[in-house]
Amino acid sequence: MCVAMGKYIIKTSDYVRDFRCIGTACPQSCCEKWQIIWSDSEIERLVGSAECTEQIRQIAQECFWQGEDGGKKAPDGYKTIKLDENGDCPFHDKSDRLCIIQKQMGAQYLSSVCTVFPNIEYANNGVLFKARSISCPAVFDLIAKSESAADVYTLQGSRDVELSRDCVRDTVSQVKEKPMLAFRNDIFDFFYDILSSGKRDYKTSVILGALAASKLSEFEQRGEYNRIPQVIGALKGQISSPATAASLSGIKPNYAVKLDAVAMLFQALSLTNDIVALTEDLRDKLRKKSQNEQELEAYRDMVCDFENMVSDKPFLMKNICRMLFYNMGIPFKDKRYTVFQNYALFVIAACAAEYLGVATAAKHTEKADFDAAFKRNVCAAARCLCHREAFVEPVIKYLTERNMLSAAHLALIIK
Ligand code: SF4
Repeated sequence: MCVAMGKYIIKTSDYVRDFRCIGTACPQSCCEKWQIIWSDSEIERLVGSAECTEQIRQIAQECFWQGEDGGKKAPDGYKTIKLDENGDCPFHDKSDRLCIIQKQMGAQYLSSVCTVFPNIEYANNGVLFKARSISCPAVFDLIAKSESAADVYTLQGSRDVELSRDCVRDTVSQVKEKPMLAFRNDIFDFFYDILSSGKRDYKTSVILGALAASKLSEFEQRGEYNRIPQVIGALKGQISSPATAASLSGIKPNYAVKLDAVAMLFQALSLTNDIVALTEDLRDKLRKKSQNEQELEAYRDMVCDFENMVSDKPFLMKNICRMLFYNMGIPFKDKRYTVFQNYALFVIAACAAEYLGVATAAKHTEKADFDAAFKRNVCAAARCLCHREAFVEPVIKYLTERNMLSAAHLALIIK
């Protein structure tokens, strides 16, 4: 659904161009286990239309509610879809796995979220960034196939573009209130370059990003916004220096800090039962394998098992991290917080992605089973990480209370 036209320079990636919805063949359709929100006017358009069939009208009467979905209450003017007993959207036809609204009335009656998913758009300062969500299995397949699929590049020239209604744009008043937003594109490019480097492992890149975010936020907190481009320029030189990367090689992982942070995140996310069961399963395995302090050593061994399992795609975690970075809306997932606090959210999410890999490898020792289950788990977690906001506040609170909002602590979490 188009809300505005404008001339934009377009940034995108190969996987965006290559994406095709696999529809009925999708192992984790977006019509399952996902409580989509509908605006009151979209509901009115659906049920008030002359084309609305009796079947759809009956379902619509019962399925929209103002309740809470895993801690997320639909905002004013919106309602949440109540899923059926199998966790399916009530408009999802079980016989052919297609949408009843689309079949009986046409795609123009779908909600904005259903129309747009898995597309994501950010439009700021004349740049339109087109992406897709890693919560879609077909997107996951593309970024798992080739390292360069998630590289971001700029198309030549500017073009007239229709923006979708869900396009993320900073309003003039938001930028006035938070001047750092004016540098959204520069900060995004700066971090994305760091995370995309082919010269180091992805964890070192994430730590270098944390150092850079911490430095940027010093200027942000002092209100020295006009110095941000200059600071980014100076940091680029320091970050790309081999000496800086080498100085991080001695950091030892702290599995206790890591596992606590991931456990907190999963709790704050109200994850699906499948993932909660998977993490409990991993905890059980850890307990059986070891006694107390050795538990963390057992986890380290399991990290090796996971790394062996994905050794055919050494770029996979790097690509998952890059996708989480912009799918979560970093550097400004939540505009109430600083760039560094937002980056901290991303670090814990990246750590959680590895944890899911470890838990999945501990449960599925056959490669094909592992591949399917890891994709399923990352997509399910991404639905919460990228499309919900309720977890942001508890995560920032957790880090603040433990005095962990520093680049050094984030390094311990991700390493
Ligand atoms: S999750 Fe992706 S591939 Fe699956 S039905 Fe939705 S858009 Fe299509």
